Amino acid sequence: MVYIHIPFCKSFCTYCDFYSEICSGKGSNEVQNLFCDRLCAEMDERRSEIAAASVPRTLYFGGGTPSVLPAEMLERITRALGPGPYDEFTVEVNPEDIVEKGPDYVRRLLDMGVNRVSMGVQSLDDTILRWMNRRHDAARAVEAFRILREAGVKNISMDLIFGLSQLSAAQLGATLDGFLELGPEHVSAYQLSIEEGSALARMVEDGRYVEASEELCREQYSRICDTLRSAGYLHYEVSNWALPGCEAVHNSAYWSRRPYVGLGPGAHSFDGAVRRWNSDSLSGWTPSSERLTPEDTAVETVMLGLRTSRGLDPAELRAKCSQEALGRLLESGSIVEEEGRFRIPEDHFFVSDDIIRQLV
Ligand code: SF4
Repeated sequence: MVYIHIPFCKSFCTYCDFYSEICSGKGSNEVQNLFCDRLCAEMDERRSEIAAASVPRTLYFGGGTPSVLPAEMLERITRALGPGPYDEFTVEVNPEDIVEKGPDYVRRLLDMGVNRVSMGVQSLDDTILRWMNRRHDAARAVEAFRILREAGVKNISMDLIFGLSQLSAAQLGATLDGFLELGPEHVSAYQLSIEEGSALARMVEDGRYVEASEELCREQYSRICDTLRSAGYLHYEVSNWALPGCEAVHNSAYWSRRPYVGLGPGAHSFDGAVRRWNSDSLSGWTPSSERLTPEDTAVETVMLGLRTSRGLDPAELRAKCSQEALGRLLESGSIVEEEGRFRIPEDHFFVSDDIIRQLV
């Protein structure tokens, strides 16, 4: 499992705190080329780690916005990593890049071995998209989807954001209807959170944005769950839905704590015992690391496992959590035992963090 962080965006979204640099216009090609040189050098230094993290064999280009890079740079990075094919090869894209670059760009992605595209749509309401400072509007998102499909992308994931105080039931409903009309294989829905250092955090601080109430967020989440369930999507992780057989291989492997290698500035890695993360710097990122204690491992296993519909093996959960809390949660139905696994039922997913906190 290899994750490659492409730290470039053409503008910053209101809510975002991911590490990324604005890159557009004159000079951007040179900066991006230099980034590719450094990335390929890091790859060469970490060949043995990459080989040790080869099950499942997945490659994920995230960001930032990988689709701001020209196809030849993505091709160069993929070639440097070594021969495919991959069980799953995902590239994150933004709709405006796909519309601007067109079907030839998408065909080059497919020729590189990409077999899954994750598109940051977030909403199909133009007022909401403008507030988020996204570069696309709803029409461009729909157009981008069409281009991806017609070029031959068979596995498309679309991201959605909920939990905005100004998002009306009608706006959310129209976005969900629009998603279903397009028919992506996978949907990820994330609740808006106020991240330190984001434009949104400053808006909250000076009173330009009031957070949505928990009740409203819960209502919006339930609406998403109900709509996607009725359309045949499996809710296989708190924030992720897939048509049967289209669950994300790469992300599922994160949740079961498989080793992975993250390359590029700000990228994280895990070898089964040690976490490593690269600093956020384009001009030469450096690694830091920490060895997980048995307590860290227990917390992580419970946290990641119980966020999935597969849940955890009862013996594993019992060994890692408070017995008293587990008994109480089983009795209240916040955790259920089904088919030999302990899991949080879907109607308690919204409060999964609270449930997990009580356990570990
Ligand atoms: S949300 Fe994505 S496109 Fe927007 S600033 Fe963050 S990384 Fe860039």
